[in-house]
Amino acid sequence: MPLFSYHCTGCDTEFEALVIGADQPACPDCGSVELEKLLSRVAAEPRVPEPVGACSTCGQYGGCAAGRS
Ligand SMILES: [Zn+2]
Repeated sequence: MPLFSYHCTGCDTEFEALVIGADQPACPDCGSVELEKLLSRVAAEPRVPEPVGACSTCGQYGGCAAGRS
């Protein structure tokens, strides 16, 4: 899901918006499109715990040809 966080420079509101394709979100508060894109918490910290079985050779999870069988 392309969920992004934005900060409206017009009214100092932060909000999250689903942005699909080239959609331009607008502030839900004041309707401004003068927005700063913030790093989404979802994107910045994907909640993928390190699997115990990560390949020790290449660090890849799951699909490593060199490591796990
Ligand atoms: Zn606003």
